[in-house]
Amino acid sequence: MEFKIGQTKISVIKGDITQQTTDAIVNAANNSLMGGGGVDGAIHNAGGLKVLEECKRIRRTQWPDGLPTGEAVITASGNLKARYVIHTVGPVWRGGTSREHELLANAYQNSLKLAVRKKLKTIAFPSISTGAYGFPIKSGSQIALKTVQQFLRTMDDLNEIIFVLFSESDLQTYMDSARRIFHI
Ligand code: ADP
Repeated sequence: MEFKIGQTKISVIKGDITQQTTDAIVNAANNSLMGGGGVDGAIHNAGGLKVLEECKRIRRTQWPDGLPTGEAVITASGNLKARYVIHTVGPVWRGGTSREHELLANAYQNSLKLAVRKKLKTIAFPSISTGAYGFPIKSGSQIALKTVQQFLRTMDDLNEIIFVLFSESDLQTYMDSARRIFHI
């Protein structure tokens, strides 16, 4: 699925985030920035040691206690096709009353802000927090799309934002949400 918000093309596709050729791909990292399972494992595997080395440097120099939930940092991409990796940490789902919605929106928004600050034009997101972290996919997809919509009201520097979904059912959920939110 493809549509436009202002000048920015939004694509919702099924695929593997490590194969994207955007300026940046976003990693659903954990607070440690030292890698993990799911998207995080796939990105570190494909990116190689360069990505981990830069994450370690960020831990030493910027975030000694780990990257707080909702924040984002950027590293080189090592062997990946994208130029940069933006690492952000989504919330662990704890039932919905521990600021999960706000923290997930922060993760998307801070990733977008960082991309614009670095003058990047294209960015690919996975479905942050909806895997091991247990965030319900329907509300997760709505937060992802609405946060992008809100961000693009004040900022039209990005040419393309891609949502890369790993399963057919996640893809269908995102497309349903997009149809409702954008009346397409
Ligand atoms: P979190 O810990 O933030 O929940 P996960 O990596 O466990 O992150 O899962 C987030 C989503 O990413 C899940 O829907 C999962 O199926 C999906 N996913 C896993 N590997 C990839 C990949 N290589 N590309 C895109 N999405 C992926």
